[in-house]
Amino acid sequence: MQTTPTVQTRPAIVPTSVDHARILAGIAERALTLFSTDGYRAQQFESNPAMFFVFPPEADKLPYVVDTLPGREHCTCPAHAKWEVCKHRLAVEAEIEAARIADEQADELAAYQTFGRFECDEEADDADRQAQTVYAAA
Ligand SMILES: [Zn+2]
Repeated sequence: MQTTPTVQTRPAIVPTSVDHARILAGIAERALTLFSTDGYRAQQFESNPAMFFVFPPEADKLPYVVDTLPGREHCTCPAHAKWEVCKHRLAVEAEIEAARIADEQADELAAYQTFGRFECDEEADDADRQAQTVYAAA
């Protein structure tokens, strides 16, 4: 099971040169720290859960608009216009993936706890039956 979200271009972008590969890797690396240490902040659209504002740390800069809908991936920044990918979109997609994994793990834990309780109930029932048998035989 995957527990660490990955940052990867979606749809996949095949680098056309070593320099292009370096640029894509640099974008992915910047995405990893965008929200944690670089001071950016994302805000999901209320009207469209696939869309986000990404606010730069500078208070006077306007936010970028990121669309994460598969097949319509986009960001309004100049880097995305040039490279068809950017740190803003990758960072938002990584956050969505991390939230999905956290939800999945919470569901698995809940299912495990339910199953564990069921097992305990079965054992308690067995113990009850044994006690009744012993009591009936006495
Ligand atoms: Zn962008």
